[in-house]
Formats: sequence, C-alpha cells, structure tokens
Amino acid sequence: MITNPFDYAAPTSLSEALGLIADGAKPLAGGMSLIPMMKLRLASPEHLVDLGRLPELNYIRDEGGEIHIGASTTHYDIESSPLLRGKCPLLHETATCIGDIQVRNRGTIGGSIAHADPAADYPAALQALEAKIVLKSSSGERAVATAEFFLDTFTTALEPNEIVSEIIVPTEPGLTGTSYKKFYQPASGFAVVGVAARVRQEGGKFSLVRVGVTGYSGSSYRAVSVEEALLGKSANADSIKAAAAQVAEGRDANSDLHASAAYRGGLLVTYTIRALTSALERSS
Ligand code: FAD
Repeated sequence: MITNPFDYAAPTSLSEALGLIADGAKPLAGGMSLIPMMKLRLASPEHLVDLGRLPELNYIRDEGGEIHIGASTTHYDIESSPLLRGKCPLLHETATCIGDIQVRNRGTIGGSIAHADPAADYPAALQALEAKIVLKSSSGERAVATAEFFLDTFTTALEPNEIVSEIIVPTEPGLTGTSYKKFYQPASGFAVVGVAARVRQEGGKFSLVRVGVTGYSGSSYRAVSVEEALLGKSANADSIKAAAAQVAEGRDANSDLHASAAYRGGLLVTYTIRALTSALERSS
C-alpha cells in the first residue's frame, strides 16, 4: 500500500529538529517500524522529521563507568562496537538477535525503544542493565529509569514534544556475567519471549541478580521476584530453577497466533533458567 501524503524535513541540527517536533512533526529514525505502519495506514503523520542525519544523536562513548549511546545509533553499530562488546556485552549480544542484517543496518536503538513493541529485544537488556534513558525537548532534558520508561504496549513515558536522545548503560565490572536468551518468532525474528540476565557471585552465593523480560506481557519488566529469591542464595542450578518459577508473578501473559498464554508461560520459565545459567557461567 501507499502512504498518505506527508511533508519530510531533514534538519541539520538537533535544535532545529526539536523545534519541528514541538510544532507537531513526528520523528523518523530507521523507518523500520514507522514506514510499514504508514503504508498500512496505521499511522498517518503529516510531517516527518528525519533524525538520521544528526551527528548529535549518533555516537557510542565511554564516559568512565558508563557508556552513552546516541538514539540514532543503529543495531549494527551496537552489534559491531568493540567498546560495547568489551564493556557491555549484554547490549552487544542483544543487538545481534534483532531481525536480519537489513533491519540491523537501518533500525536504531532510539527508534526501537520509542516504539515500545512488546516483543522488541532491547527493553529486556535495558531493564537488566538498569539503563537510563535521556529524553530531550526544545525546553530541556530529563533522564528516566528504564523501569519507568516502558509503560504499556507501544506506550512510553515520552511526551509528544520529546525525543529519546541517548541511552546510558553501566560498564560491567570484571566478575559480572550477562546473557540474553530469546525464543524467536520464526517469520519476523521478534521475541515470543526474551530474557536478559545480569548476575554476580561472591563466595558461591548470588550477590547481584537482575532479570529483564520482553515478549511475555504488554510491556517489558524486571522480574523482581526472581531477583529477590536468588539474592544471597547458592549460585547453582537448583536455586535458579526454583526462583525462575516466579518470573511471571503479577503479569498477564500475551496470547496470540504465535503462542498461547500457557505456552508463553512455559517458554518464559525455560528461557529464564537458560539466561540465568548462562550469565552465571560467564560470571566467574
Ligand atoms: P522508526 O521506524 O523510524 O520509528 C519508530 C517509532 O519511534 C516512530 O513512532 C517514531 O516516530 C519514533 N521515534 C524514532 N526515533 C525516535 C526518537 N529518537 N525519539 C522519539 N521517538 C522516536 N525489533 C526487535 O527488537 N527484534 C526483532 O527481532 C525485530 N525484527 C524485525 C524484523 C523486521 C522484518 C522489521 C521490519 C523490524 C524488526 N524489528 C525488530 C524492529 C526494528 O528493531 C526497528 O528498528 C525498530 O522497531 C524501530 O526503529 P527505527 O529506528 O526503524 O524507528
């Protein structure tokens, strides 16, 4: 199908882009989600602002203990960054799981999280990493914790005049192990369920556990019950198996043609065990 008519602007500075967005224009990043929605007439913005040409949104920088990633950084740039592979391997690993090479070459981290598809991959990793998301408008900026950014299906804390400008992730100290495990939807590659785990162990016991979930319910979330059940417990397969049973606590399961709620629940427990086991193996 063909889109409704629209105006297209490609500003050369971020302040110009933010001014156009304040006037009601819609941001365009990689177009991997927005353009298909426009073709299907599920979205019909009259004015598009292309963020893809702004160097102010395209970077990966080490700022001592944190890595700052500009919103227009593509999945491929994240996947191929030696800095992220070395200092935040969870984000590197997650990017390698997204779609196919064409999608990874065009799609951006800012576009993905602003879109907030409940089956997208980054949200699980950003939940486990306790990342901060920086939002900018023509009147200022604010940083939001990942847990407060993703509100519901295709719904985030973004105000209409704001854009995602950067994502801030911690660099992992030596003994932290991370892993992302995903059950792929066979046609698109999206996550039927996806689980990101981040763990540390000291003296054979878990001293840090973070678990981020995507695909299971309307929005990504931190599986706090699993984290609390494992903290201080022996770092072994039995503890992981017992705690993983709580991963869906308090959440309603999605049910669709790819997986019923019951099947998704079974997958989620299995993928939680796999992600935690793999993260634990990498933590020592
Ligand atoms: P766009 O499509 O340009 O924009 C998406 C939305 O975000 C729009 O509403 C736009 O206005 C808004 N937006 C864009 N940038 C910003 C910003 N900086 N601030 C505020 N709002 C903004 N994703 C996965 O996670 N896993 C997969 O396995 C996967 N498989 C895919 C397979 C296919 C075939 C396709 C087409 C997509 C797939 N995706 C997958 C989605 C892909 O990751 C997209 O890149 C992503 O959803 C949107 O990013 P984008 O940069 O293309 O944004």
